[in-house]
Amino acid sequence: VPFLKGKRVLVMGLGKSGTATARALLAAGAGVMAWDDGETARRAAAETAIPIRDPALIPMEKADLVVWSPGIPHTHPQPHAIAEKARAANVPVVCDVELLGLAKAGTRMLAVTGTNGKSTTTTLLAHVLAECGLPVAAGGNLGTAALDLPELPGDGRYVLELSSYQLELTHSLKLGAAILLNITPDHLGRHGGMNGYIAAKRRVFDFLTPGGAAVIGVDDGPCRAIAAELERRGLRVVKISVESVLTEGVSAPDGVLLDNGKPVTDLKEIPSLPGSHNWQNACAVYAAARAEGLSPKDIAAALSTYPGLAHRQELVGEDHGIAWINDSKATNADAVEKALVCYEHIYWILGGQAKEGGIASLERHFGRIQHAFLIGEASEAFAATLEGKVRYTRCVTLANAVAAARNLAVSDDIPGAVVLLSPACASWDQFKSFEDRGDTFRDLVQAFGEGGAA
Ligand code: ADP
Repeated sequence: VPFLKGKRVLVMGLGKSGTATARALLAAGAGVMAWDDGETARRAAAETAIPIRDPALIPMEKADLVVWSPGIPHTHPQPHAIAEKARAANVPVVCDVELLGLAKAGTRMLAVTGTNGKSTTTTLLAHVLAECGLPVAAGGNLGTAALDLPELPGDGRYVLELSSYQLELTHSLKLGAAILLNITPDHLGRHGGMNGYIAAKRRVFDFLTPGGAAVIGVDDGPCRAIAAELERRGLRVVKISVESVLTEGVSAPDGVLLDNGKPVTDLKEIPSLPGSHNWQNACAVYAAARAEGLSPKDIAAALSTYPGLAHRQELVGEDHGIAWINDSKATNADAVEKALVCYEHIYWILGGQAKEGGIASLERHFGRIQHAFLIGEASEAFAATLEGKVRYTRCVTLANAVAAARNLAVSDDIPGAVVLLSPACASWDQFKSFEDRGDTFRDLVQAFGEGGAA
């Protein structure tokens, strides 16, 4: 961010992205004032020589720019006051992606947004481009923070995962292609309702350079409306669907990827992309990679070698013919449903810190469940939903659940059976994060070979 040399920048939020921002600004010779409401975050930053200032105590006229971490809720009282103060003083408020866009304006950028599937699609697109020989770096909302992304050679591509919050705080990004996967109700509070949320997502297409491809999933109403609007404006729209065949666009209603209706490759043969939600991700990647000039054959070959992401229907082991699947990222019933429909005979490990809504909406899939193993705080509530419909055992801990599931699954000996950790809950009651929960599960499963857990 060399253009910020000598400028005074207030960095709000010192998580991964804020810390990367502060470091990049310091390296560029900017004056940094950083803040986080969390004392631990402040102390960690101070230890790496990032100057900490309480923004409540500095007059806003002292700042040229505010860089806002998208993780800070807009409704938070103190940051909210700061944002108001910045607006009143005409100090621009942006996020790190805006700075990346300005700093690396010469490098081609592709972006991915949507309610679900962003990380999978971002990593899958980066994988495909890299397999086809292009220099690629991926990051943004998840993974590497925007300002930690490495320098790329001239023919390189940045693949950016963008949340709706980042889109709201970005103004001058230039995109060669943009993907909007889907829009379903999520984070509505923060955006002032569904219309605000849709408007934030829609913004991704405002950043397209002339001729850039607008890749849009058209299986939900809000996205269909956006696609129609962009077509009216004459943009280059590529529609994707996993519900119906598109004669113009990329579709995969039964798992075979169709390019303008013509078969290209069978996605059902790619173990790391199970389920129609992943076919949607694959269709979007195919469309963007085609728009980048790659051939159908090369893209298909690259899709088939995707290693998959941890904690999202991740195969972590096989034992006595039973597949062990880590879907720890599935913290609500909607995400769990995506996994349940992929398997016929499921030993289901679930529970943790309950979220609103519970698991009653999953009842139509209960026939697939051989047995449920309940852990954590939600056990009582889930037991009540399962009562009389699915056999279950209260296991309290994940280790107990793994041992119990293994005993039962091995003795039942059903071909094609899976043990699935898909918790429908947050992890905070027993784990640091969903990653910690998934890692613990993987460790327990991988200990089988060493005589553990049985
Ligand atoms: P995000 O980054 O948007 O949170 P991920 O790629 O990490 O999305 O996937 C998170 C979970 O969302 C997956 O485990 C799966 O249950 C679900 N999911 C993935 N892709 C899609 C999709 N295209 N549509 C709906 N749900 C999806």
